[in-house]
Amino acid sequence: MLPRVRFAPSPTGYLHVGGARTALFNWLYARRHGGVFVLRIEDTDTERSSTEMVEGILDGLRWLGLDWDEGPDVGGPHAPYFQSERLDRHRAMAERLVAAGDAYNCYCTPEELKAKREAAGPPSLQGGSAWRYDRTCLRLTEDDVAARERAGLAHAVRFKVPEGSMRFVDLVHGPIAFDGANVEDFVIVRSDGQPTYHLSVVADDIDMAITHVVRGDDHISNTPKHILLYHALGAPVPEFAHVPLILGTDKKRLSKRHGATSVMEYAAQGFLPEAMLNFLTLLGWSPGAGDRELFTRAELVEAFSIEGISGSSAVFNPEKLDWFNQQHLTGLSIEDLTARVKPSLLAAGLWDDACLGERRDWFAAVLDLFRPRMKRLGDFAAQARFVLTDDIDYDADAVRKHLRGMAQPLAALDAACEALPAYDPRSIEQALRGVAEAQGLKAAALIHAARVAVTGKTVSPGLFEVLALLGPDRAHARIAAAAALPDALPS
Ligand code: GLU
Repeated sequence: MLPRVRFAPSPTGYLHVGGARTALFNWLYARRHGGVFVLRIEDTDTERSSTEMVEGILDGLRWLGLDWDEGPDVGGPHAPYFQSERLDRHRAMAERLVAAGDAYNCYCTPEELKAKREAAGPPSLQGGSAWRYDRTCLRLTEDDVAARERAGLAHAVRFKVPEGSMRFVDLVHGPIAFDGANVEDFVIVRSDGQPTYHLSVVADDIDMAITHVVRGDDHISNTPKHILLYHALGAPVPEFAHVPLILGTDKKRLSKRHGATSVMEYAAQGFLPEAMLNFLTLLGWSPGAGDRELFTRAELVEAFSIEGISGSSAVFNPEKLDWFNQQHLTGLSIEDLTARVKPSLLAAGLWDDACLGERRDWFAAVLDLFRPRMKRLGDFAAQARFVLTDDIDYDADAVRKHLRGMAQPLAALDAACEALPAYDPRSIEQALRGVAEAQGLKAAALIHAARVAVTGKTVSPGLFEVLALLGPDRAHARIAAAAALPDALPS
């Protein structure tokens, strides 16, 4: 049977990197085995959910390239894919459970429950209440029930947890045992008629024929309840794989304190989706033999297995993400890279359509020269500004340090360059070294001066390549103007 997996976000926030990784593992599993990836929006918490958040989550998934086969916008055989539109179905399942004696109406009010809980004493060391629902309403006679109904009392529906121990085999954590005696008769429909998460998620996973539930570790304690519901509803129990948390470098749960947690923030910061995908997959998954880290999307699909997911938490290391981004930037074709940097060039006012037309080769050479220095897409606009425009920002310290007293050697360099038959990096380098020697200067001093003169900064890609790309006219204009720069500085 081909796997059917799902990502079931609650649209109460943006797409968090943890959620994205859960979606990714599901997607990889579906694609690896030719299965179906379902997107279901669990929007039953109407106060905290919003359509903006739904859109935000879809945008994040689209940006990562995680396409779904069934879902709210594309439809599918198990529609609707918004959980809020499936509540009648959940209630019908609750009625079935009540009719079969697997669930019962509970008329206890929140006040009564609170009083009993408080009377039972302080919470246990694990933080949970020492008190478990005492099944008061399971023992009601027909007359008791009739009286409550006549009085118009609202009731919740509780699942009757059977006695005895059970176990399931988590695909990540191995066998997990639990004892029914430790599980309270949990509520499946609230007294306002709203089905709870436990019922809704199981009902939908049954109706959508989900074969593998791959979700965050935070749900592991819910799984016994879910398995009991599958049994009572006579449905096959899917496989479960609980994926460990993502931690910050301080080993605390990843949060905004550690930096951006929204996938779309990473998009805005200039990360490539394929780098993010590669990085997120390796957060908690490993391909087994060897320490290979770099994968394309297709290679990840090919290599992925649930068995490769680690049972311990993964640490989100931003430097590693930068490394992945650089590696993936290196692998892009120039055409592709051009398309990716275009938005940030447009935003910086540095885009010129000629970069795709008559200046195509020149622009490709510029991009290639800067590529090894780029960590993020936006770096190119910032670093290459002095090549793409004549509007240069001179760093005052650099001017002071490297241009003072250099007017004469720079003029000699300018003259030597003007006389060059070919204005290419090798010829420029020879000219510069010749001038330095004739002037009794170290070549490095003249290189520093020329670099500040033409780039405004002390750091840039190789000077000779930069000069060649600027071309003789622009290089001449800048070198000639540089002599006056130190005098223009405020003293
Ligand atoms: N809506 C739930 C969540 O976002 C889904 C849990 C599940 O995958 O079962 O945590």
